[in-house]
Amino acid sequence: NVTFSYPEKKKAALNGVNIIIEKGSFTALVGPSGSGKTTAVDLMLGLFHPVSGKILIDGIELKKFNLNSIRKKVGYVPQDPLLFNSSIKENLLWSLPEAKEEDIWDACKKANAEDFIKLLPERIETVLGDRGVRLSGGQRQRIALARAIIRKPDILFLDEATSSLDAESEDLIQESINTLSGQTTIVVIAHRLSTIKNADFVYVLDLGEVKESGNYQKLKNNPQSLLNNMIEKQGM
Ligand code: ADP
Ligand code: MG
Repeated sequence: NVTFSYPEKKKAALNGVNIIIEKGSFTALVGPSGSGKTTAVDLMLGLFHPVSGKILIDGIELKKFNLNSIRKKVGYVPQDPLLFNSSIKENLLWSLPEAKEEDIWDACKKANAEDFIKLLPERIETVLGDRGVRLSGGQRQRIALARAIIRKPDILFLDEATSSLDAESEDLIQESINTLSGQTTIVVIAHRLSTIKNADFVYVLDLGEVKESGNYQKLKNNPQSLLNNMIEKQGM
C-alpha cells in the first residue's frame, strides 16, 4: 500500500500501490511514461522511502535491513546505463573485483554480449567511451547487464531502454532474460511488450496506480484487458 511523492511535487508519483515479487519469478512493470515504474523500482532498491505504506522483504521492512547488504544481492540495469571510460573488463571488475577472466566471459555470454566483444580489437580489454570504442545503445545495455549479473544477484532489475535499441539487441536482451529467468528473480520495466511475453506476473501502472495485474498470457488473451489493448497498439 505504498504511496510516494517527490518533495517538490504535489501529486503522488505512486498512490496506494501493491506489488508482489515472488522469489524466482519474472515480473514485469508496464505503463505509459510517467506512470511511476522507475519510482517503484527506486523504492524497492531502498533509494527512497515510502511516504506511507511499507516495502517488505520476506515480511521484514526494507528499511530495517542494512542497505549495503541488500545492494550486494541486487543487480540493477538502468535505462541509460553509465559505463566507465575504461575497458570492458574494468567495467565488470568494478561490480565484482575478485572476478576471474572466465567469470567475465561467462557474464558477457549470459548477457548476450560475447559475440560483439569477440569482434572488438582488444576484446574485453577494449576501452570504451570518448577515447575508446563507441558502442550502440543495445551493446551498452548488454555490458551493463553483464556487469549486473556477474555478481549473481538474487534479484535483477532491468529498466529497458526506450528507443536506442536496435531490433537485434532487443531480441538478444529478451533472450538473456529468458536464460536468467528461473535462476534469479527478475523485474523488468518493459517498453516493448515483446520483451515480457514469458512474464509470470505483469503490473500495468498508470498515473501512479496499479490498474491491472496478472499473468501475461492470461491478460493478453482477455480482449477487455489493458494489456491486450497495449499489445494491439504495438501491433504484436
Ligand atoms: P516512469 O518510469 O513510469 O516513466 P517515473 O517513476 O519516472 O515514471 O515518474 C513518475 C512521476 O514522478 C512522474 O510524474 C514524474 O514526473 C515524477 N518524477 C520522477 N522522477 C522525479 C524526480 N526526480 N523529481 C520529481 N519528480 C519526479
Ligand atoms: Mg522510467
